[in-house]
Amino acid sequence: MKHRIRTAVWSLAVGVVAVLAFSAGALAGPLTGVKITVDPGHGGSDPGAIGPTGLREADVNLRVGTVLRNCLVEYGGATVQMTRTSDVYVSLADRVNMANSWGAHRFISVHHNSSSDPTVNGTETYAYTYGSSLSFDLRNKVHAQLLAWGGLPDRGARTANFYVLRYTNMPAILTEASFISNPYEEARLRDAGYTWREGYYIYKGIADHFGVPYQ
Ligand SMILES: [Zn+2]
Repeated sequence: MKHRIRTAVWSLAVGVVAVLAFSAGALAGPLTGVKITVDPGHGGSDPGAIGPTGLREADVNLRVGTVLRNCLVEYGGATVQMTRTSDVYVSLADRVNMANSWGAHRFISVHHNSSSDPTVNGTETYAYTYGSSLSFDLRNKVHAQLLAWGGLPDRGARTANFYVLRYTNMPAILTEASFISNPYEEARLRDAGYTWREGYYIYKGIADHFGVPYQ
């Protein structure tokens, strides 16, 4: 009888430890508790910029944004809100309201650039003109990682009055990693491996900003 009770207690203890270990594995990470809104620009009736052979910026933004979400969740343990997960139109006000009402800690808008000059390529990353020092730090860390990602010309860590930067309540940035209007770059942006790395490097920049290791 005593033996049976001891066995039962032992089994229960093992079970509790197993549950705790599973929870830790599923939830714990260097970004656990951090709420990040990922905003793939454009979508639906608004395709954004269109490449020389028809690649839509909205589709590239969604691909990169989805990779970014996966890296933040799976490697960082962060909690991520997406402003869209399919090819639908979402107004700028709705994107901002989503992040503000959720209480996001950071807001990352993913875009790609366009120029009437097809030879232009390079990386730009934006924070709000009157943004906080935290937003500038986030912008600078992500910009540095995006330069490491593409090795493209450095067109600057910049400021702008973009709607999603201006009206979000939390530190917010907008990435323009490269120019979809450049034929060579458009071809690369069609490659899922290339855009996977772009999302991964944005994640690395966010980890740098929080001063935590990345995978
Ligand atoms: Zn755009």
